[in-house]
Amino acid sequence: MHQLIKGKEVSEKVLEEIKHEVSLLKQVGKKTPHLAAVLVGDNPASMAYVNSKIKTCERVGVTSTLLKFETDISEQALLNEIEKLNNDTDIDGYIVQLPLPKHIAEQKIIEAIKPSKDVDGFHPVNVGKLVLNLPTYISATPYGIIQLLEYYKIPTQGKHCVVIGRSNIVGTPMSILMAKNAQYANCTVTLCHSKTENLKQYTLAADIVIAAIGKPNYVTADMVKQGAVVIDVGINRIPSTETKSGFKLVGDVAFDEVAPKCSYITPVPGGVGLMTIASLLKNTLLAAKKEIYK
Ligand code: NAP
Repeated sequence: MHQLIKGKEVSEKVLEEIKHEVSLLKQVGKKTPHLAAVLVGDNPASMAYVNSKIKTCERVGVTSTLLKFETDISEQALLNEIEKLNNDTDIDGYIVQLPLPKHIAEQKIIEAIKPSKDVDGFHPVNVGKLVLNLPTYISATPYGIIQLLEYYKIPTQGKHCVVIGRSNIVGTPMSILMAKNAQYANCTVTLCHSKTENLKQYTLAADIVIAAIGKPNYVTADMVKQGAVVIDVGINRIPSTETKSGFKLVGDVAFDEVAPKCSYITPVPGGVGLMTIASLLKNTLLAAKKEIYK
């Protein structure tokens, strides 16, 4: 019988802890943590993500500022805004919601973010620190997954973890974290991607499968061994006759057929996604307390 990994329950706990810490900061006369979010254009998914980040800030008592720009903002104008955020002493950390319009080089923008304010953990300095096991802002989605594994006390030492997907924001940092000699993760890791030959051969040998592919229901029951832990990062919008909107969200894992084979599995929605926002807020608190950069 599989156990559901409840992102809602764990994220609620994390958010309550953050709320408590924020109130303690205020009690001792410290400044309220402040997160800014940069949103370019009107991509509905990006708008929804940013709105829930802002709402969650309100919930835990963190100040938030939303900076919205038109899709046609030039790269230079956006870099100027980034510079302003870097120099704004009231803002502890900020995120630039991705993806950006095609005429803006994402990497250039990421590299312009001051590492001490890069609470998404995307700047090369912070990624480098992650690789070297130095204190840093761990990018929110992998950080959230680590917290889920910790909360459910899922054994990782010596286990074989297969991460599917090698993006800079999910798959790659996830694979690095899972291979750490750490309490929370001490796995042997295989990182698979679209050029992996015979993916199933790897996933069938995995104790832990982390799917970050972006393809609905891609991981099927025949790809997963009995008793595996399956973490589904995917958020895919597919047409549905079951909802008013005509769409529903599904993960990268075919949940109904895979779940019966698992020891633990995350649902979509209600799994990893909720942890991503909670982890971003955790990083914001670290920034406000100057725990990573003095
Ligand atoms: P991405 O940048 O598009 O990367 C997808 C990765 O999957 C790539 O490395 C790609 O390989 C690999 N891939 C594609 N097709 C594959 C296949 N058939 N077999 C094996 N690997 C394959 O996506 P992402 O930003 O990492 O996001 C992945 C998914 O997670 C999306 O559904 C996204 O919406 C979701 N997501 C969720 C959260 C959350 O909070 N839950 C956060 C971020 C992202 P190549 O490198 O070879 O192209």
